[in-house]
Amino acid sequence: MCGIVGYVGSNGSCVRVLIDGLKRLEYRGYDSAGIARIVSDEVKLTKESGNLDNLVSNIDFSETSNLGIGHTRWATHGKVDKVNAHPHKVGKFTLVHNGIIENYADIKNNLLLKGYTFKTQTDTEVLCALLDYLYKRNNNVLESISRLPLLVTGSYALCIICDDDKDNLYVAKNNSPLIIGVNEGENYVASDAQAFIDKTKKYVSLEDLDYGKISKDNVRIYHDGKNKTVQLKRFEFGLSDISKDNYEHYMLKEIYEEKEVFVRTTRPYLDNGITSLIDKMPDFSKYKKIRIIACGSATHAGLVGKQMLERYAEIKTEVETASEFRYNKVFLDKDELVIVISQSGETADTLEALKIANNNGNDTLGIINEKGSTIARLSKIVMYTEAGKEIAVATTKAYLAQVTMLSLIALNLSFKKDLLEKAVLKRVLSDAQLLTNYIQELFEKRQEYQKVADGLATHNGVFFIGRLTDYALAMEGSLKLKEISYTHSEAYPAGELKHGTISLIEDKTPVVALITDDVIASKTISNIKEVKARGAHVIVITNKDNLEDDVYDEIIKIPKVCDLFSPVLAVIPLQLIAYEVAKIKGCTIDKPKNLAKSVTVE
Ligand code: GLU
Repeated sequence: MCGIVGYVGSNGSCVRVLIDGLKRLEYRGYDSAGIARIVSDEVKLTKESGNLDNLVSNIDFSETSNLGIGHTRWATHGKVDKVNAHPHKVGKFTLVHNGIIENYADIKNNLLLKGYTFKTQTDTEVLCALLDYLYKRNNNVLESISRLPLLVTGSYALCIICDDDKDNLYVAKNNSPLIIGVNEGENYVASDAQAFIDKTKKYVSLEDLDYGKISKDNVRIYHDGKNKTVQLKRFEFGLSDISKDNYEHYMLKEIYEEKEVFVRTTRPYLDNGITSLIDKMPDFSKYKKIRIIACGSATHAGLVGKQMLERYAEIKTEVETASEFRYNKVFLDKDELVIVISQSGETADTLEALKIANNNGNDTLGIINEKGSTIARLSKIVMYTEAGKEIAVATTKAYLAQVTMLSLIALNLSFKKDLLEKAVLKRVLSDAQLLTNYIQELFEKRQEYQKVADGLATHNGVFFIGRLTDYALAMEGSLKLKEISYTHSEAYPAGELKHGTISLIEDKTPVVALITDDVIASKTISNIKEVKARGAHVIVITNKDNLEDDVYDEIIKIPKVCDLFSPVLAVIPLQLIAYEVAKIKGCTIDKPKNLAKSVTVE
């Protein structure tokens, strides 16, 4: 959500660096863009609403500049237009901002009294004016920035230029991501490393309330008025990890990577059978209860995990939406393990939930994809999913890795608690070996997904139904369709329809029904018959061989595997059907409107 880039160097290439960086951050989601750079000792601003191309067409790439900042905005305060786009300049300060200044109205009122006027509706311009006001009093940029934690509530990642110091960039961070890329004779600032990964893999991460001063040769970081030792770290990924290869969309590429993702995520824990599962995983057997907290698809992964953990490890598991959890009264028992799940490791609501659990003294486990992200750093224990870089806004492979990780935890706990039958373990280990073949089988059914999608694309509403694990999967299938194809859809527990929603079923209403969870299959089949009796067009996704043909209008068969890994297979047709519908409807699949990849505001 929102992309920030900053550059300070000496070869004059700043404009190109800023635009290339913003392009790489496009996947995060945005609605307008802008840059500010120093040209002939002046701050020059260019901003445009809409796509980055609108900005690019107004940029002169022959311009020589050694310092600048850039931004893709995801509007929170003030409408999407050129005036509200960043960077903002007030007095001697020009800055880009990611986040929300919660008390901006109070600050604005005070500044109005001091004679400031405002051109935009943004909270960001207020922050910019505040810095200018502070600077007028102390004539010291760092000291002005150091006052922000005392005066400002909310979240901010900032990259700042001051007219009086055109050789340095200034940064500040609180609850929004910002890192610094470090290279010989040049340094970068960005919301994430993708912006500069082709130039350098060395980076410095910032903690909340850190601020700093960055020249071409130096990175100085401060916290609470004190200079901090800068720790240089190194990224493992490179530019090739973020290319689209020959795929039409990142989303498709990422779905097709799911075979390797499954292998990479399971290998460390299963390469030596149960021994590695026990040796390589932290010991979770002391906990009496598990609470999973997440947002969006990660919550759906958590709901699949709940089924696994309760069935295999007999441990009570609750799943909560982070944006609700953080404002509810906290009822966390001390012997409860709190698991937070996030692809980016920067999801603002999940991060706050994690802080609450940490402050409550609970043990916290982060299941995270982005190495070194804030949630990964703040979780007491971290287990990384090995999905690799995920660029498409709608998650696919990272969700699959999250589900896989939760299944492994359930398996580990089941064994430790002496609940795992030998035959089940044998089946799990052999299925793990075969799973990539099964995933490949599912990839080869593309025409079947296209056929289903042809039908769904003509409807304005789709139902997804299932029970237990299948309901959790239905929620993910429904979300995927909504996110990328803008088709309204609802996921329902199949048994719940008759308590109200079935009134919406009429002739040809599309219902995607999942029957993969053996525990409840026969009940789901009865519910499907109820909707079919009312005219629904039913598309069944199942691993059952002997379904009577009056249960479905269309059927997609998935291979039968142990129920710990079955969701990994079942989600693939759901992802690909959503993809095909979005393609038929001509949607911007990798960057759906209004959505952002890393949701860094609450
Ligand atoms: N709150 C700011 C605005 O609406 C920043 C939004 C962002 O993070 O892109 O301009």
